[in-house]
Amino acid sequence: MNPLDAAALLDQPPLTSAELIELEHLVARTLRTDNAVVVCQAEAITVLESVARSVAGPSHRVLNVVTGPYGALFGNWLRQTGAEVNDLALGYRTAITPDVFARAIAGADTVALVQAEAATGVNLDLPGLLSIAHREGALTVVDAVAAIGGEPLEVDAWGIDVAVLGGQKALSGPAGVSAAAISRRAWERIEGNPAAPRRSTLSLLDWAEDWLRTDRSRIPGTPSVLETRALLGALRRVHIEGIAAVEDRHRRARAATIAGVAALSLEPWAPAGRRAAVCTTVALPDPVPRALRTLTRPGSLIAPGDGPLEAELFRINHFGQAADLNVVLGGLVQLGTALALADRRDEVQQVAAAAWQTYSAIEPGPIGDMRIE
Ligand SMILES: *Cc1c(COP(=O)(O)O)cnc(C)c1O
Repeated sequence: MNPLDAAALLDQPPLTSAELIELEHLVARTLRTDNAVVVCQAEAITVLESVARSVAGPSHRVLNVVTGPYGALFGNWLRQTGAEVNDLALGYRTAITPDVFARAIAGADTVALVQAEAATGVNLDLPGLLSIAHREGALTVVDAVAAIGGEPLEVDAWGIDVAVLGGQKALSGPAGVSAAAISRRAWERIEGNPAAPRRSTLSLLDWAEDWLRTDRSRIPGTPSVLETRALLGALRRVHIEGIAAVEDRHRRARAATIAGVAALSLEPWAPAGRRAAVCTTVALPDPVPRALRTLTRPGSLIAPGDGPLEAELFRINHFGQAADLNVVLGGLVQLGTALALADRRDEVQQVAAAAWQTYSAIEPGPIGDMRIE
């Protein structure tokens, strides 16, 4: 980098209270909530750990729905608090039906759900599962990091007690600052939980005491100026475009990708009706062409599966600025070339573009999947 350009990164003015408060408002608007917002000066995985350790303890019974590695990690933090944790893990490729969920939730006072998992490309029928959780009176925690901006999320209308947001997926923002929206009921749970962290970077109670309940003239600790300002910029940009338009772009990208993948004789890995808008996971063909192995790069549009999933799938990361028709078409052309199917190039582009154009917000799920008892 030109040393003169570095000045824009290095010589930033201090973060102001007004900027942090605007960020909180934009996070709340993105999550469609009036609940209090905690901004965490670290990536989303940190605020997820804060939430797990704050809401759970030895007297609690938690149903943790696992559709990928983030859900599994969340369950482990919950268990470390001494809570009784039931991981509902049916294999990442099995859709969680309302019947199975309703049976598993019996006796739980807390439910943890991951709206969409980027690693597996699997999402949940969140409104349906939440209505069952409410019937049981359970506190509801949702990891929306990979879903937010891709799939609609209505924190207040759907009654989500804790919703966690990160900037680095569909919102095209930074990874270094994250946030959680916390309902009054969830604050009561946390305040009444002797196991909740205090005087710790994981403490939500410290943040409430040192910032949310003050006159907000002084930001506690040393904020990450660049990352906080970058998330503010990302959310301003999202709301200029409109959150519904951002979601629509992601869902069109999913539709175009799934159509293009089928035209290349590949199969989506996630079950029909439960495919996340953040990225499409694709079952690896057998044998795996060498050119496909070299095409997939971690963090790029076409990426290998994470960890053990590398043996089963690859990812098409059509999120953020990549939720764009031309980006998706370019990715499909690269994929066709790697599969020695360059002769299908025009056909693939046509079906993908048609799927983008004709996308309708109502995606049919498998029979029974969308039913709410
Ligand atoms: C990407 C992602 C996160 C964020 O994790 P970081 O490691 O902080 O980037 C959290 N939850 C889910 C479901 C994700 O897909």
